[in-house]
Amino acid sequence: AEVCEEKAIITMKDGTPFLIPTLCSGCRACEIICPITEAILESQKLMGHTYLTETPYGFPLVTGKLLEGEERAMPIVTAAKKRAKSINRELLLVDTAAGTSNTVSKALEDSKLLIAVTEPTPLGLHDLALILELGRLMGMEAWVVINRSDLGKKERIEKMVQNYNAEIVAEIPYSEAIIRSYVKGEPIVLTNNKEAEIFKDLAEKIANYLG
Ligand code: SF4
Repeated sequence: AEVCEEKAIITMKDGTPFLIPTLCSGCRACEIICPITEAILESQKLMGHTYLTETPYGFPLVTGKLLEGEERAMPIVTAAKKRAKSINRELLLVDTAAGTSNTVSKALEDSKLLIAVTEPTPLGLHDLALILELGRLMGMEAWVVINRSDLGKKERIEKMVQNYNAEIVAEIPYSEAIIRSYVKGEPIVLTNNKEAEIFKDLAEKIANYLG
């Protein structure tokens, strides 16, 4: 129970370990540490699925979905990333969950560049500090995109970005055109709205950075 970071093993009063399967991430730390051979045996459990979809935009999309009731996303994140890597494309863009949980660091593993999307709000600033710190610990270069950039004060974001030696690469103002295109399921970048240019510029910056 001591090595289980997911708290999936409870030790009963008489010392008997009790496993809560829905909390187990399958990391196998207990199996590795257990002194008794074959006391813990590997098994299989269906926790979710990964999907490979051909998009109409010329690139494939890999997604992962947990089964209802499952609480641990790590196996799905690992499986989805493995599947995405197996496609062997020149560029792999990973859209992580929000925050800085262990699934986020797993999703970011082996990445060259971290692009954090934030907003000029206290919560946005708080989360930005965490993700920039994670990027620093993982040795990744960090860029920042400010969403709804005209709805708050940006000074504290700019200061934080400077402290982490990061760079603000795009600012997206509050835009009804973006909301309308989102509701229609039409990527803003494929429209004639002026906001499309922000995303095209960002794509160009990424392409230049990666060479
Ligand atoms: S495999 Fe990992 S998460 Fe599952 S019970 Fe063992 S230590 Fe805990």
